[in-house]
Amino acid sequence: MEHLDFLGHFHHPWLMDSSFSETPPDERLDNLIFHPKNQSEGSINVGDYTCDACARKVHFTTNDFLKAFGNSKTRLSTQEHEAACRRRPLRKDKGEAFLDFHCPGCRRPVRLVFEPTEFAMGCYYFTVVALLEGQSPRS
Ligand SMILES: [Zn+2]
Repeated sequence: MEHLDFLGHFHHPWLMDSSFSETPPDERLDNLIFHPKNQSEGSINVGDYTCDACARKVHFTTNDFLKAFGNSKTRLSTQEHEAACRRRPLRKDKGEAFLDFHCPGCRRPVRLVFEPTEFAMGCYYFTVVALLEGQSPRS
């Protein structure tokens, strides 16, 4: 019990700061730009994230980014959300937003930080500018 008590009272730097690492987005994503322009023609942009921990793929479309852009709620735990924000704060001046998920294969928390670009009145396309990956609970 002494050990648990110790852990409860001290923050270990490796738990606090190494919980997320930043990876160049193009190392895991096969597409970084999500444009809605051709949605009605069925040529909406799509992209796959490939987890390097478990090789699982997660599929995205422009709609996923549109939804995340309009709703700033995280899908991560409060602790994971805060750790991700510490590791890579959002640039509010660029209107950055995030798309968060847990890898369906290994449950690792992942955050895609993306930047909106207004290409017509009220119409945006999105560019993934940063990728944060947490530790898999199994590793
Ligand atoms: Zn995974």
